[in-house]
Amino acid sequence: MLYESTRGHSRPVSAAEAIKLGIAPDGGLFVPEREVRLAPADFVRLATLNYRQRAAHILSCFLTDFESAEIEESVAQAYGANKFDVKEIAPVRTVTAGGPHFLELWRGPTCAFKDLALQILPQLLTKAAIKTGETAEIVILVATSGDTGKAALEGFRGVSGTRIIVFFPAEGVSAMQRLQMVTQEGGNTHVIAVHGNFDDTQNGVKAIFTDPTVNATLHRQGRRFSSANSINWGRLVPQIVYYFSAYLDLQNRNEIKPGQAINFVVPTGNFGNILAGFYARRMGLPINRLICAANRNNVLTEFIRTGTYDRHRTFHRTVSPSMDILVSSNLERLLYELTDRNAARVGSWMTELRKTGRYQVDHTTREQVSRLFWSDFASEGETLAAIRATWQQHGYLIDPHTAVGKSVYDKYQAATGDHTPTVIISTASPFKFNQAVACALLDDRETKNKSEFELLETLAAFTGLKIPPELRGLDQKPVRHHTEVAIEEMPGAVLEILR
Ligand SMILES: *Cc1c(COP(=O)(O)O)cnc(C)c1O
Repeated sequence: MLYESTRGHSRPVSAAEAIKLGIAPDGGLFVPEREVRLAPADFVRLATLNYRQRAAHILSCFLTDFESAEIEESVAQAYGANKFDVKEIAPVRTVTAGGPHFLELWRGPTCAFKDLALQILPQLLTKAAIKTGETAEIVILVATSGDTGKAALEGFRGVSGTRIIVFFPAEGVSAMQRLQMVTQEGGNTHVIAVHGNFDDTQNGVKAIFTDPTVNATLHRQGRRFSSANSINWGRLVPQIVYYFSAYLDLQNRNEIKPGQAINFVVPTGNFGNILAGFYARRMGLPINRLICAANRNNVLTEFIRTGTYDRHRTFHRTVSPSMDILVSSNLERLLYELTDRNAARVGSWMTELRKTGRYQVDHTTREQVSRLFWSDFASEGETLAAIRATWQQHGYLIDPHTAVGKSVYDKYQAATGDHTPTVIISTASPFKFNQAVACALLDDRETKNKSEFELLETLAAFTGLKIPPELRGLDQKPVRHHTEVAIEEMPGAVLEILR
């Protein structure tokens, strides 16, 4: 299996090469050159396996140049002992008879769903480097809206032959997310705050990737860049696994019959998670609708409804900051697949987006999008109300991103009357976003003037739930990363670190 660029101007490469490069040389994203479909017998067998074994099977369908021993070792490292706090890795929780079901993807070391991909990416990337004869040190550059940064730092910490530099928007992450990053340990980790929002930060990182001066310097130093953002195929493919695992777990529990179609609701930002669902569907997983849940930054809702992508709108900071995004990079992959791999057309839309801030897809593409996807968004008030209602009605605590999903699912049901069994993807631990959660559940007197850490205790006492140990001790850890830069200082900051 080779990987081709969505812009059509780079030669197809192996999976190892695609993972090592992160982004295609022509600025496009790598996609598998053909569809992968599972046979009915695969489904039968996968149903009997655990998460690690399911992951190994699905990864080997796409990473055909990796030996099975390499894949198994990567999977064992990533999802092995003590990395996740439950043996199922990605448990499905049913809080009311018949659902909706919640797929908890935050049982890993950084309490958000990014761990599912970022625990394994360093394994795949270091193996890919060896496989492709790479001798350069790999420098991972990351732009983060909060969760990717920490998960990537944890994943790459101490991985030999790599260094990681994470940029985050100074004003755009929660206090807990910021502390998780600036206290990061490890000799190969660097964290920098940027004066700007996530899109500024992401654009800054994209510009460094293609900056000729920076790249020439790196080359002289025997280094090369790669990406741990969800533009890297090595991040996407592990995410396909949990769609299958959720489905098969529900089937094993007799919640659904083999072959029965289900919906997934996905709290969406950069379109990575939901795109993995699209690929799962292409592989034959019976998915009826992929419901794209957005917050007030509802550029994707408008796109899915109208076929017009328009980034010219006010950027809102919300209680679900990991979804505060106006340019969703992975949409490019979807458009490429839906236009039957029309790189010229996709390229022209992306050029329009860069030049004018908007583009409109053709009628056929728009129809395909609306057949597979449905979208709505939740306001701030609706998000908090969903946290409150889910707690009061079911005694189940959800974080603000998951609450966006729940709120949009309620809208979906009201709008369509569809009662297809549904899984809502739960993307973060409620303790990671405790300010918003406390605000939803408690009255002002209980939360006023409390620090994030006092709130953790308040919330734990109120709900009777356990604070994740990774978050609890954070205020005691020394701050190791102090650098703050303006957007235009980002390339200089990279060179300074790599001096
Ligand atoms: C990253 C993230 C999202 C958005 O996922 P995408 O793959 O960017 O669409 C949603 N919720 C949380 C908690 C996240 O960290």
